[in-house]
Amino acid sequence: MKSAILTVGTELLFGQISNSNSVYLSQQLNNLGIDVLYHYTVGDNPKRLTKMICKAFADCDLVITTGGLGPTQDDLTKESAAKVFNDELIIHQDILNELESYSKRMNVTMTDNNRKQAYLPSRAFRFDNESGTAPGFSLEENGKTIICLPGPPREMTQMFEQEVKPYLLKKTDDVIYYKLIRTFGIGESMLETELKQWIDVQTDPTLATYAKEGEAYLRIASKRSTLEEAKSAVDDMIQNINQKIGQYIYSYDGEDLFEVVAKKLIEKNISISSAESCTGGLFGKTLTDVSGISAVYNRGFITYSNQAKMEELGVKAETLEKFGAVSEETAVEMTEGLKRVSGSRLCISVTGISGPEGGTEEKPVGLVYICASLDDKRVCKEFRIRNISRSWNRNYTLLCMLDMVNRLIDQN
Ligand code: ATP
Ligand code: MG
Repeated sequence: MKSAILTVGTELLFGQISNSNSVYLSQQLNNLGIDVLYHYTVGDNPKRLTKMICKAFADCDLVITTGGLGPTQDDLTKESAAKVFNDELIIHQDILNELESYSKRMNVTMTDNNRKQAYLPSRAFRFDNESGTAPGFSLEENGKTIICLPGPPREMTQMFEQEVKPYLLKKTDDVIYYKLIRTFGIGESMLETELKQWIDVQTDPTLATYAKEGEAYLRIASKRSTLEEAKSAVDDMIQNINQKIGQYIYSYDGEDLFEVVAKKLIEKNISISSAESCTGGLFGKTLTDVSGISAVYNRGFITYSNQAKMEELGVKAETLEKFGAVSEETAVEMTEGLKRVSGSRLCISVTGISGPEGGTEEKPVGLVYICASLDDKRVCKEFRIRNISRSWNRNYTLLCMLDMVNRLIDQN
């Protein structure tokens, strides 16, 4: 099935809000095996909206709209959809009754424009709105389907999840199975190069790579008549891919690196503490975002100044003087000090230059040392992170730290 997403709202064209509905619907449709060919956006203008709906149907069998279903003057999606499908709006008594009892419950007076929400195209198949009042609906004619959903993301996603998904699943014979592989330490272009032999000839499963926030993602999807077939096609491909790039893969299920690390720490009951300089507590914050981590996360220091590094972790003044705060020697002493103070099995420390100021030719912005130890095994590594911005540098440093911890746990 070929589809288009048509988002309606002048505020979208003004750039006043981000088009998160398109992003959500694209992900959902692709996961259902429905190809999304176009994203269209149009303002609250019935003429242009009708024109766009017709245009979208030139290439697609399914058009999903969001927005313009509400009670106000500018909400005109229903009218436009009905027009294109040669239908007319009629009052749906059941919706009107619900609106009336809703108003009574909320103790508000129903206005004429509220009543407008009880009108739907006569042949509409209705989708309930659990978190709002405007119902969604679909209309079908000659193999073409339009689905109109409300604009507010919470209402739209809930309606999609509960009502539209089952409706769409009934329409497609094929099942889709996919895995979202997440990697760290390999760039998207290198990933593509490594997998070229399969990407070049792909029909099914399909392979798609993309880069996001310092990582490369790989989506492997198969569309077959049974789930077993699709699953086995994807699993076979994963086996091939593993041989090429297995060392960079940390998740096959789309999880974040911090979730993977936290899960392993908890499962293996490995206590952990952290001492951070340039990341200012980001590592500790991120790990403690995971519920249940209190079983293993012991303590975190933000030792930003030299004084803190000496007082809290026992880093030697000579070390700081001779090698500087951003050095392998300091990182090692931070970790050793942390081990003494915390007694945790896994200790990780970081020191670096996040910028934009503070870099020198010898020690540029982006230079980072991370030292981690697990029981008797210790690693310390220098990183030269591509300096994009302070926040990027810090976020990337966090990934390097998590990656180091992940590998240490795996080797244990
Ligand atoms: P309402 O009953 O609230 O009027 P509606 O279906 O008529 O709902 P709109 O009036 O078009 O929808 O949009 C309502 C709000 O939903 C917008 O102000 C905006 O905050 C949000 N919204 C609309 N479209 C999108 C979109 N494509 N992406 C993200 N948010 C959106
Ligand atoms: Mg509205």
